[in-house]
Amino acid sequence: MTLTDRLIREIDERRDDLIALTQDLLRIPTLNPPGENYREICDYLDRRFQGAGFETELVRAFGTPGDSDKYPRWNLIARREGSRSGECMHFNSHVDVVDVGQGWTRDPFGGELVDGKIYGRGSCDMKGGLAASIVAAEAFLAVCPEFSGAVEISATADEESGGYGGVAYLAEKGYFDPERVQHVIIPEPFNKNRICLGHRGVWWAEVETFGEIAHGSMPFLGDCAIRHMGAVLEEMEKSLFPALAQKQTEMPVIPEGARQSTLNINSIHGGQVEGDASFTGLPSPCVPDTCRMIIDRRFLLEEDIEDVQAEIRQIFETVKSRRNSFQYEIRELHRVLPTMTERDAPVVRTVARAIEETFGQKAEYVVSPGTYDQKHVDRIGKLKNCIAYGPGILDLAHKPDEYVGVEDMLDCAKVMGRSLIELLAKP
Ligand SMILES: [Zn+2]
Repeated sequence: MTLTDRLIREIDERRDDLIALTQDLLRIPTLNPPGENYREICDYLDRRFQGAGFETELVRAFGTPGDSDKYPRWNLIARREGSRSGECMHFNSHVDVVDVGQGWTRDPFGGELVDGKIYGRGSCDMKGGLAASIVAAEAFLAVCPEFSGAVEISATADEESGGYGGVAYLAEKGYFDPERVQHVIIPEPFNKNRICLGHRGVWWAEVETFGEIAHGSMPFLGDCAIRHMGAVLEEMEKSLFPALAQKQTEMPVIPEGARQSTLNINSIHGGQVEGDASFTGLPSPCVPDTCRMIIDRRFLLEEDIEDVQAEIRQIFETVKSRRNSFQYEIRELHRVLPTMTERDAPVVRTVARAIEETFGQKAEYVVSPGTYDQKHVDRIGKLKNCIAYGPGILDLAHKPDEYVGVEDMLDCAKVMGRSLIELLAKP
């Protein structure tokens, strides 16, 4: 029996363990915001890793957004050194999950197993991926106790809110230094035959128009900030949205609708603050003197962030040239540069071969429309050899009745295990 055959058998034999591990993880509600039970899930994983002979480290991201004594941002890093020097393969999973929302027919924190699917918030995004990587690593260690390099697994906080208390913090502390880690797989759900090479960029801004308050019966004595913003929206419809649709990318983004620049208007607010639901009175008549809008621009590897900003400024300048008394401000809220790992990077080639051997078909290469923690590995860690590869269907992420398929987790674990053999089982 070859090493690979033994690995595959080991993984198949761990099916029940994989199910139980996934269920246990789902039953610890790690909702973010606010960032609940990070310590509990790290402690659970710590016991598991110590049992499997890993050295573990608990790291709290003190002072990062949201970190407090009530909601501390805990992360866990587990590392097992081989018997010879070599490269380190790192699997990084975020443990936080988003709000449950409406429409569930299953217990979102029950970990129910029905017809080969495990249901729960975070099953697909991405506790199923975390469980698959743990079982893959343990099976690899069982069949290949004498390996070179190191196997590392991290369970991190806050990916859903930007990753500052998780991977960004660890990267700043040197955990993703290319001297220490050479290959990174983030088991986010992109389907088991797909390698995700990276993601588009993000630019969030708050834009504001200004007017002058006056009595609503005499609006000509004031200046309506909402009408000014209306003119901005009109100009966006006329010139910006068509221009964005023209900007196509070579990045293999899925779904294909995201293979262009996009802009979402996340929110708009002008005039008086809305009363809460218990308020039964009427509003008072005032001309709004301010209108604010949050925009979410997703951009491509082919675009510079400076051009993305200039394009928005140009819309406001065009409107300004046509309207007297038009004043505005643009404030950046958040930015992430696009990233895409080369197809001939070592981790990409290794996982592509493992996919082909496991499924008998070539790997598909994709890029994510939204960002994930790869940005921090790349920008802060300066480690380019990073991909996302994991079980689960991307479309199910953040939805009601989210699930992960047991068969998919096993298949992904086999791909991960084969990759470990290729990189670390060298004599
Ligand atoms: Zn995720």
